[in-house]
Order: sequence, then C-alpha cells, then structure tokens
Amino acid sequence: MQFVKILIVLPAGQPHKLEFGPIKMSFREAPLTATSLAALIPDDLKAEVKIVDESVSPVPFQEQFDLVGVSVLTGTSSRAYKIADIFRERNSKVVLGGVHVTLMPEEARQHADSIVIGFAEQTWPQLLNDFSQNRMKPVYRQQKIDLKNLPVPRRDLQKKLGYTVADTVFATRGCRGKCDFCSIVAAEFGWHTRPVRDVINEIKAIKSKRIAFNDVNLTDDPVYAKELFREMIPLKKIWGGLASTRVTEDDELIELLQKSGCRYLLLGFESIDNQMLRGINKGFNKFEKYSEVVRKLHGIGIIVQGCFILGMDGEDPGIFKRTLDAVHELKIDIPRYALFTPYPKSKPFQRMKAQGRILHEKWEYYDTQHVVILPDKMSPKQLDDGFKWIYKETFKLKNDFTRTLGSGKNFGISFIGNLAYKLYIKKLYQDLNRFPAEVLPGC
Ligand code: SF4
Repeated sequence: MQFVKILIVLPAGQPHKLEFGPIKMSFREAPLTATSLAALIPDDLKAEVKIVDESVSPVPFQEQFDLVGVSVLTGTSSRAYKIADIFRERNSKVVLGGVHVTLMPEEARQHADSIVIGFAEQTWPQLLNDFSQNRMKPVYRQQKIDLKNLPVPRRDLQKKLGYTVADTVFATRGCRGKCDFCSIVAAEFGWHTRPVRDVINEIKAIKSKRIAFNDVNLTDDPVYAKELFREMIPLKKIWGGLASTRVTEDDELIELLQKSGCRYLLLGFESIDNQMLRGINKGFNKFEKYSEVVRKLHGIGIIVQGCFILGMDGEDPGIFKRTLDAVHELKIDIPRYALFTPYPKSKPFQRMKAQGRILHEKWEYYDTQHVVILPDKMSPKQLDDGFKWIYKETFKLKNDFTRTLGSGKNFGISFIGNLAYKLYIKKLYQDLNRFPAEVLPGC
C-alpha cells in the first residue's frame, strides 16, 4: 500500500532555542501545534507522519515528503519560507498556516502551494482530503471553529526530551482582551472554549503528573475556568499556564487554582506605569494592585512568572532601572522581558509605520527580543542596551536569591528557574546580530 508521507514543521524560534553542542533544547513547554495537526489527519489518508520542532530537532531535508505543513509565527516566518522553498524545489506540496499567515496571507502564498488562514481544526482535514484527490485549493479559510470532540494530540510523535514540560493541553483559544500589541488581537482570533469534559478526558489519559496549559489566557472566562479547575481536582495533577493579572480578583477562582494543582502562572504585567498600560489598551492592569496579585498567588503556593514589555511610547532610559526595582520589590519569582513589537497589521504597526518609526520589516527580528521600532524617548541602541542590561541585572545571583526568597516553599524551583535564564542571557550578549546591518548605522 502506498502511504502519503507528511511532514509537519515548527521552524526554530530563536529566543527559546538553546544549544549545547549537539544537544538542542527548547526553553518552553512543548507546543501543541504539530501534535494537534498530526491528530487531525484523516485515517483514510493512510498517512505516514513525522513532526519536527526545529528548536529541538533538525528538519529532515534529506527525506522526500508528499506534503509539508509549516506553522508560521512572525518571528519564524523567514525561516519558515526558507524551509517551504527548499521542499517545494524538491516537488513536495507545501502548506503554510499559523498566526503570521493569517496576518500576511499574500506574502505567505508566495512560498506555498496552499495556505490556511485562521484556525486549522476544520480546514486542515478538508485540505488533506482535497490533496488526496488532487484538488487542493490555494487558500483555506476557517470560518467557524468547532472545538468539540477534537482528536487527542499525537504526543507519541513528539520528542520527549528538550522541553520544560513535555505534556501540554489546551482548553481555550484566543482571548477577549483587546491589548493592542497582541498578535491574537491583530489576527482577530476571538474567544473559544472546548467542552470541559473533553479537556478532562484528555488530561486523564496523560500519564505524567506535570502538565502545562498553553492557552494564551486560560482564566479569561472565570466561570469556564472554575468549572474546569473543579473537574481537575480529582486528577491530582500539577500544572502551570498563562493568565492575566485579573486572576486574583475572584476568591473562588484562587481557591480552585490551588485545589486543582496550579503551581505556576505566567502573567502579563507588561508595565509598571498605568499610563503606558492604558496606552496599550491594557488598562485593567493596575500597578498599585501588582503586589496584591503576587501576594495572593504566593499565598497559595503559585510561582509567578511576570512578563514586562520595554520600549513603549513615553518610556525614557530610566524605565530599565525603575522596572528592575519594581520586579525585585514585587518579588516576581521568574521575570521575563520583551521588547515592544508591533506585529504586522496590528494597530501599533499601522500607526508607527505612518509615523516612519518602523525600523525595518525583516520579520525574523519580530520575536520580541530585538528592537524593531524607533522609540519616542530613546534611541534604538539605548533600548537594546537597556534590554540586555535589565536581563543581566535581574538574574545576577544575589538578585535571584533575594527575589526568590519570596517564593516560600517554592524557593528551590524558582531559584533553579532563575539560574536557567543565565543561559539565555549569555546567548543574548553573544548575539552580534541585534539589528540588520543596514539599520545599525542609524541607531
Ligand atoms: S490579555 Fe493577553 S492574550 Fe489577551 S489580548 Fe491581552 S495580551 Fe493578548
């Protein structure tokens, strides 16, 4: 019997890719994209499937595939197009999908035989059926999304080692927030939930005790989140995920977080200045509430990973020291920093483009770890230097130690998490490619 050979690729994302000689590691939880796409392949296609997350495994360019699917983020789009071009030259059919394809379909089409705009739950199986009958269309667009009865992700195809957490699940898609820097908002993904029963059944089948949710804002709908967490209590898992600072506004939700086994949350604090927060349409974050948010989560044994964005309009070079001080004072267990990155098609991108403040459109630099804009109160070089400086200062050993004392019984895990960032900082300082060559002289 002739099998259809399918390869699904997640191109390497620079920020979370760490290499130690021949060993590749990803500084993140296992992504679900490739395993979910593999699970959606119809049985009657008789497909032989391989999935590759380039952060942890090389792309098998030496092999021949009938169809190659590549998931594209803005920061990985240049690499994704390169991979697509290579496989097309070898007569594989190439399909591109993902957030960047949804934002920039015309650009993506130049590198693909077919593109998928929006979510893929219904369109990807449809595309594969069309492919098997030689009538694949150039564009598939998800109209309505149905998250009921999804097949279980093919975790068996995923590399087991190399991730901070290997078993990931999702319960929700999108977010109801309107933060104007967010790619989810720019792509107009909306907000969708899976039936709680489906999520619980999937978690039950996972053998390991530790899991992670990779939803962008798991607690966006507290009613849904509470139902989910209630059902998770008997499963006795330990889990982490992403939420907004609003998570601590509801005492019942906090109690259920604890009872369901939540051990860490990544929160987007974004800024220590309420004016900046209003400027990015995230006014529900209030700096004066941050210490209460952290205190409440620490109180129930949850490690707080806090993300802060640097380079927003109105920020001067003093922002780095002010943010550093706040992060220590708040006792954020594991801080993370991102550079303000206006994704294509987003409102900030359009505004800054009209103002002549987009430095370039080389998407490989749009990974939140490279300066791509002209800030209004400092130079791009000052922003880049400040970004590296705050990372280095934050994760100095004595700072790690004093800050993670606030983690209480989670001190050990938090401290190790902080130590891991030293690898990233080394990589950041070794990165000689902070700006494209043609942009650097003007910095
Ligand atoms: S709350 Fe988070 S996921 Fe939702 S729009 Fe804002 S940044 Fe995006």
